[in-house]
Amino acid sequence: MRAQIPLGTVSGIRIGLHYSWLIIAFLISLSLGSNFAATNPEWGPGIIWATAIATALLFFVTIVLHELSHAMLAKSHGLPVRSITLFALGGVAEIEQEAGDARTEFWLGIVGPITSFVIGTICLAVLYGFGWKPPHFPRTPLLAMLMWIGYINIMLAVFNMVPGFPLDGGRVLRAIVWWITGDASRATRISAKLGQFVAFAFILFGVYRFFNGAGIGGLWIAFIGWFLLSAARESYAQVAITESLKGLRVRDVMSSDYPTVDSNANLQTLVDEHFLRMGRRCFFVSENGRIVGLITPHEVREVERQRWPFKTVDEAMRPLDQLRTVTPDTPIKKALEIMGSEDVNQLPVVEGNEVRGILSRGQILQLLQTRAELGK
Ligand SMILES: [Zn+2]
Repeated sequence: MRAQIPLGTVSGIRIGLHYSWLIIAFLISLSLGSNFAATNPEWGPGIIWATAIATALLFFVTIVLHELSHAMLAKSHGLPVRSITLFALGGVAEIEQEAGDARTEFWLGIVGPITSFVIGTICLAVLYGFGWKPPHFPRTPLLAMLMWIGYINIMLAVFNMVPGFPLDGGRVLRAIVWWITGDASRATRISAKLGQFVAFAFILFGVYRFFNGAGIGGLWIAFIGWFLLSAARESYAQVAITESLKGLRVRDVMSSDYPTVDSNANLQTLVDEHFLRMGRRCFFVSENGRIVGLITPHEVREVERQRWPFKTVDEAMRPLDQLRTVTPDTPIKKALEIMGSEDVNQLPVVEGNEVRGILSRGQILQLLQTRAELGK
C-alpha cells in the first residue's frame, strides 16, 4: 500500500494517506452526522457537522497511534519501519523485517490492541468523570465525541484480537504456536489458514446481514472479509516461497554474464542498439573496463526524448556507489527483502570492489517456478 498524500514524519516513520481513505473519512463523517442529528437535534446543523468531522478526524488520529505503537516497538527491537499508511480499512505499518523470535512477535502483535484498548478506556473514564452514565447519550458535542472515540477504540481492540493472520490477533497466535513448536513457518501456515477461515466467516456473516436488512453495513463486513482473505492467502504463499528459497544464496541464482554499455555512448544508441535489440532491461555501465554504474529504461525515461542523442549514459546512470548491492553470500530471502524495500527489480552483486554479476527478480521467479514444477 503506497501513501499518495504525505502527512509528515514521526521519528523517521513517514505517515501518509491512501486515496481510498478520503472516501471512508467522508462516509464516517456522514454517518456520524446523521447519528448526531437524530440524538441531539438541538445542536443545529453547524455544530452537528463540525462535531461529526472532528470525531472522524480524531478517530483516524487514534488509528495512527495504534499503528505507531506497532512501529515504535518494532524499531526498539531493531526492525526497520518504513511508513504508516491510512487507507479505507484502517492503517498499516510497513515493518521491513520479520521478528527474529516468538517473544518479539507476540509483543509486536499485541501492543496495537492494548494501545486501542487503553485509549478507549481513558476516553470512557473521563466521560464517566463528567457524570455520564450509559446508555444515555451525552448532551454536549465534546462529550459525544469522547463517547464515540471511546467505544470505537474498544471495538477496534476486540476486532484486532480475532486470531486470524494478518490481524493482530493472528500475529499473537502465530507467536504462541511459534513458541510452542519452535517452527516459525509452521506457525505462519497455521495462523494464515485460520485467517482464511475467519475471512470466510466475515464474508458469510456480511452477506447474511445484507439479506436480512443490514444493507450497506452487511456489505461492508463482507468487504473486510474479502480483504482479509486475500491478505491471509498472500502470507500463506509467502511462507511457501520462503521455504523454497531456504538455504539459497545470491551466488546460486545470479547471472555473471551481465551486459555492459560504454559510459560515453549516448542514450539514443543505448535505446536503439541495446534496450530494443537485446531485450534486456538492465545494463552495467563500463568506463575503461571498470563498472561504474547501472542503467535501466527507468533512468532513460527521466530524460526528455529529444535530448537522448545529446546525453551520455554516464550522465543518466545510477552510480554504483549510490546503489544498494548484495554480495554472492547474501541469502536470497534477504536480497528479495532489499528489492522490496528499495522498489527495484535487480541488484548488482559486488564482492570487494569488483562487480561479480547481477541478480534479478525474474531469475528468482524462474527458479521458484522450476522448483514448483519439480515438486521441490
Ligand atoms: Zn494493529
